Amino acid sequence: MSGSSGTAAVVEATPVDSGPGAGDWAAAESLLRNLSPDARVLLICHVNPDGDALGSMLGFALGLRRLGVRAMQATFPGPPEVPVPFQGLPGLELLVPATEAYPDPDLVICFDAASESRLGELVDRLDTAGASLVLDHHASNTRFGGVNLVDPHAAATSVVAEQLLTRLGVGLDAGIAECLYVALTTDTGSFRFEATTPAVHHLAARLLATGIRPGDISRRVFDTRPFGAVRLFGEVLGRARLEPAPAGGRGLVWTWATLDDLARHDQRPYVLEALIDSVRCTAEADVSCVLKQTAPGEWAVSLRSKGAVDVSRVALALGGGGHRFAAGFTGRGTAEEVVDRIRGQLDDAVIPPAAP
Ligand code: 5GP
Ligand code: MN
Repeated sequence: MSGSSGTAAVVEATPVDSGPGAGDWAAAESLLRNLSPDARVLLICHVNPDGDALGSMLGFALGLRRLGVRAMQATFPGPPEVPVPFQGLPGLELLVPATEAYPDPDLVICFDAASESRLGELVDRLDTAGASLVLDHHASNTRFGGVNLVDPHAAATSVVAEQLLTRLGVGLDAGIAECLYVALTTDTGSFRFEATTPAVHHLAARLLATGIRPGDISRRVFDTRPFGAVRLFGEVLGRARLEPAPAGGRGLVWTWATLDDLARHDQRPYVLEALIDSVRCTAEADVSCVLKQTAPGEWAVSLRSKGAVDVSRVALALGGGGHRFAAGFTGRGTAEEVVDRIRGQLDDAVIPPAAP
């Protein structure tokens, strides 16, 4: 024991927003290094998976394969439909529908899911698996795994995944790198958001050094959509509403897309994920919102802020979660009713100015 003051030892509380500690990394490494040769590993990412969810999961899975893991499945809750932009990802052959996922894996690893609810019908695997490991970067993560690697300062879950692979001695190859690159570019808005630190660019450089082609990848992931989606966007953007008063006068811009809109333009729901990026450009509003109908009276709601409002507070208050400036929840009722509830939360979610 160091120190000679004779006073009681000071126990330092771990700040809630700090990243994984040495013990967490050691526990995660030990879980993976001590897998028996025939261990069955189930990887799960969040429902309605985005680039970070699929990319971090598949990149890590390819790394585990290099480590010698043979019995491995990757999956996500809900219909087993991979959005077209991600259908070129390496490692997709490991994907199985949720209905075919190991009922009692030796190890379950969860990616980019802030809470158990994001695992949908696969949530029971946390109990049936021999052990569980959570990799994530949401500040609101509930630490629902046996071992939790949660770094709220990481720009994407793929950053945490790459750090763990490095600790396990698994180097990058082009397959792993493409998955992690898709994840990193998705969650940083192609290196535009605040979380784009020097470390993010260093990681991007190492990923690119494997020979992956960023132009091809970006065109596939961000810049390709069916003509029907282009016309659908025109309609949905054309009905957007701008309200100056909400969020203490910072303003709200919002729009909605129904199942009927999708049907009329013969489009799949995933095409709507890119809509928020057009809506949030609106100069006159800090907060932007897109409601995507998922069933009669049910909406997947996306919220974004330019920096004046903590939209994760709004989402959490309404049963969802996310990051400070990008969050979401499931809304019930009419679109107008859901937006009314959002308006009701916005004033309280304005970030107070920093003390001088
Ligand atoms: P998006 O608007 O792109 O779907 O989601 C933005 C962020 O909010 C993501 O970090 C995502 O994890 C989170 N998010 C979106 N929808 C939900 C939800 O229904 N529940 C929770 N807990 N988080 C959500
Ligand atoms: Mn993410």
